[in-house]
Amino acid sequence: MVDASLSQTILADRHLAYALLDARLRVVAVQGPADLLPPDSLGRSLFDLAPELIGLEPDIEAVLAGQRPRFTLDWVNRETPSGETIYVHLILLPFHLNGAANGQPNGLIHLVEDVTASGLLQQALTQHRNELRLLRDRLAQQNSQLAAANAELRQLDELKSRFVSIAAHELRSPLTAITGYLELLTDEQSDPLTAEQREYLHIIERGITRLLTIINNLLDLTRIEAGRIELALRPYNLAEMVAWVVEELRPTLVERGLKLTIQAPPDLPPTLCDVARAPQILSNLLSNAIKYSYPGGEIEIRLSHRAQEGFVQVAVADQGVGIPLADQPNLFTRFYRASTASHTGATGAGLGLYISRLLVELHGGQLWLDSEVGRGSTFYVTFHSS
Ligand code: ADP
Repeated sequence: MVDASLSQTILADRHLAYALLDARLRVVAVQGPADLLPPDSLGRSLFDLAPELIGLEPDIEAVLAGQRPRFTLDWVNRETPSGETIYVHLILLPFHLNGAANGQPNGLIHLVEDVTASGLLQQALTQHRNELRLLRDRLAQQNSQLAAANAELRQLDELKSRFVSIAAHELRSPLTAITGYLELLTDEQSDPLTAEQREYLHIIERGITRLLTIINNLLDLTRIEAGRIELALRPYNLAEMVAWVVEELRPTLVERGLKLTIQAPPDLPPTLCDVARAPQILSNLLSNAIKYSYPGGEIEIRLSHRAQEGFVQVAVADQGVGIPLADQPNLFTRFYRASTASHTGATGAGLGLYISRLLVELHGGQLWLDSEVGRGSTFYVTFHSS
C-alpha cells in the first residue's frame, strides 16, 4: 500500500503514467495521473488508449520481439477532459511479465510522459529564434541599404567638390582678365577719368576682390578637404609676416578710419610656417577684425613667446561687434556666420575661419577666441617656434 502511494506520488510529480501491456497489447496494469492514462484502461487495447500509434504496428511488434530497445512518438498533442491541450511523449519499452527475466519479452511498458511545460518553452524558444532570425535579416538588409546610401553620398560629395572646383576655376579666369583691364583704366597714364567714373571703377574693383576671396576660399576648401594641401614648414620671422599682412590691408584700415597697433617683443624666436598659408591665416583674422569693427575703432596685434609650450602666439584684438557665446562653438565650421555678422554691414560666406582652422591645424597650432557682444573679440593663433 505504501509502495503504491509512493509510486503514485512520484509519477504525479513527474507527470508520468504507465500501463503494462501483454503480448496482445491489452492493458494488464495501469498507474499514474488519470488525465494521462484513465484508470478504466484495464483490459483495453493500446490503440484505444493511444490511437496515434495506429499504423505503427511494425515498430511496436519489433519492440515486442526484442529487436528494438524502445519506440517513441514525441510531441503528441492531446486534449484533457478539462479541455486543456497538453503535449505528451509516447514511449514503448520491452517488458517480461510474470517476472520472466530473460528470453523474448512477453509484454510492453507503455509510458505517457507529459512534456507540456518544456513543449511550451520550446515553442516560445522557437518563436524567439524565428523572430531573432527575422530581425537579423532585417538588420542585414538595412545595413546593406545604408552602405549603398553611404556610397551614393560619397559619390555625390565628390561630385559636389568637383563641381565647386570647376565652377570656381571658370569664374576666376574672367575675373583676372577684368582686373587687368580695370588696372589699365585706373592707370594714371591713361586718359583722365571723371571723379564719378573713378568711383564706379572703385566699386567694381571692390566687388571683384570680394568675388575672388570667395572663389579662392571655395578652391581652398575643396583642396583641403580632399587632402590636397601640403605645407612647406620653414623658420620665418612672424613679426615680419604680420607687418606684410598689415601693409596689404592698410587701405581698408584707412578707409574705415581704424587705428592699428602692433606689439612684438624684439627677441621673438623664428616660427615654423608655410610662407603662403601662414599669412593667409593672419590676413583672415585681421580682415575680420577690420570688417567687424565700428568705424574709428582700435585693433591691436600682440605677439608673444610662450617658451614653455614651444609656441609663438599671435592675438588679434578688436573693439567691434563681438560674438554671442551661443555662436562661438560653431564659428570654425563651414558657412557659419554669427548673429552679429550683419551689425557693421560686412558681407562674407562664413568660410574664412573654417579654412583658417584647418590651416592652423596643418601647422600643428591652435586657434581660439575670446569675445563679448558689443565689446569686441580677440582671436588667438599659435605657431611652433623653431
Ligand atoms: P565671413 O566671411 O562671414 O567673415 P569667417 O569664417 O571669416 O566668415 O567668419 C565667420 C563668422 O565669424 C563671421 O560671419 C562673423 O559672424 C564672425 N566673426 C569672425 N571674426 C569676427 C570678429 N573679429 N568680430 C566679430 N565677429 C567675427
